[in-house]
Amino acid sequence: MVVGDVTTSTDVLVIGAGPGGYAAAIRAAQLDLDVTLVEKEAYGGACLNRGCIPSKALINGSKLASKAGNSEELGIYADPTVALDEMMDWKDGVVDQLTSGIEQLCTAAGVNLLQGTAEFAAENKIRIVHQGEGQGSESLKFERCIIATGSRPVAIPGFDFDDEYIVSSAGALSLETVPDELAIVGAGYIGMELATVYSRLGSDVTVIEMLEQALPSYERDIASVVRQRAENLGVDFHFGYTADSWAASGDKAVLTAVPADEAADDSDVEITAEKILVAVGRRPVTDTLSIDAAGVETNSQGFIPTDSRCRTNKEHIFAVGDVAGEPMLAHKGSKEGEVAAEVIAGEPAAVDYQALPAAVFTEPEIGTVGLTTTQAANEGITPVTGKFQFQASGRALTANRTDGFVRIVAAKETERVIGAQIVGPEASELIAEIAAMIEMGAKLQDIGSTVHTHPTLSESVMEAAQNARGKAIHKRN
Ligand SMILES: Cc1cc2nc3c(=O)[nH]c(=O)nc-3n(C[C@H](O)[C@H](O)[C@H](O)COP(=O)(O)OP(=O)(O)OC[C@H]3O[C@@H](n4cnc5c(N)ncnc54)[C@H](O)[C@@H]3O)c2cc1C
Repeated sequence: MVVGDVTTSTDVLVIGAGPGGYAAAIRAAQLDLDVTLVEKEAYGGACLNRGCIPSKALINGSKLASKAGNSEELGIYADPTVALDEMMDWKDGVVDQLTSGIEQLCTAAGVNLLQGTAEFAAENKIRIVHQGEGQGSESLKFERCIIATGSRPVAIPGFDFDDEYIVSSAGALSLETVPDELAIVGAGYIGMELATVYSRLGSDVTVIEMLEQALPSYERDIASVVRQRAENLGVDFHFGYTADSWAASGDKAVLTAVPADEAADDSDVEITAEKILVAVGRRPVTDTLSIDAAGVETNSQGFIPTDSRCRTNKEHIFAVGDVAGEPMLAHKGSKEGEVAAEVIAGEPAAVDYQALPAAVFTEPEIGTVGLTTTQAANEGITPVTGKFQFQASGRALTANRTDGFVRIVAAKETERVIGAQIVGPEASELIAEIAAMIEMGAKLQDIGSTVHTHPTLSESVMEAAQNARGKAIHKRN
């Protein structure tokens, strides 16, 4: 059907159906607003299609294979064969199930769905270009708009994504065979998660990182546990190096990395790899929106500055998710989406970033929430900490996964819980308890005196809280 340039209208227009946009649209519909959600590609955005979900599926698949092949200690002798194409098919099935579920949820809530690329034509009007030859375009007037256009991977000069030699995270999540060698540029969480996947599946993985540690945005004692495990899995690191150039040599790429500090005496490094994954960060999708036509301001990196109610400089336009800035996490986008919709509906909603957890699904996992001790001190809070090593956890021992620890940070004076850092098994799940405690304004004693099921990893959270009060049972305080 050719859609002519007719103009229709909606109360609330949401651009982008990732975790930020679809959550915003569903909540707005629940609040009886007339909502239209425009998406140019697939429902679920980066998270469901080429981010959180496919990466976690492959993390789980590779973990099973690696565990099965490395459990001689438990008397298990196995040499699993991984058919990557079948694992990818299974992963794609999970993605399809979730993305079609999002579409159904939106429809059931009463959200009007439109497929096409939106760009602003004026402060209250967008143009939607429909995909496919002869599909035309249409214009839509809106009272309020929520921008949720997400982010895309940053390419580095000379390393254009070609999906043959150079891949982005999206490409790395869809490889047909396990590469013999994989060079990864960037040791942030995406690079480290994919290093975990492919080293478990048998690739020789080399990571090049400009800074001096893996996962540079995490505290050194947390990141070093993950780095150690990655090295045990066979991952090679070149810290203090940047990827400078590459050249094809037959079916391999030869990457040259140079010292990040030009004054350093170190020599260049050459890495031969079947694939090079560039994972050096993501940038907001604001450059293709004709955002100036709406008068919405962006900062020097292209992010849209917002307040805690997700409002931009334009009173009727909101921005949520990756496009609104760090941390670029799905659940942060969803929360902001809900808040933007509630603010539009006249509710007194705001985002509380204090209790926003984050997780890295490496081996072992990382879970963090709230403040570190350094951040607390910078905010003028004297911190007290409690720590519990998984080595002393019965559950961790029975799971044969004892790397890492739980650290809880509280304000010394009030004993109010203000942060936690966990590195170890199921850290991504364990952090939820502490996030809930921070959200409720709980004190160390609230965690410490809550009876935790035995034997579980969550007992380590209780012990860490008790340790901060000098009352842990299973460690010397
Ligand atoms: C490999 C990888 C792993 C990740 N793992 C995790 C994880 O484990 N946990 C976590 O919390 N986060 C993770 N993330 C981050 C997470 O995916 C993002 O934070 C999240 O998807 C952001 O949601 P969003 O709604 O802001 O944007 P997106 O999910 O990027 O969605 C934006 C949507 O807008 C659409 N769009 C853009 N421009 C237009 C336009 N002009 N018109 C119409 N539609 C448009 C896009 O097609 C897209 O569907 C991961 C990311 C990657 C890449």
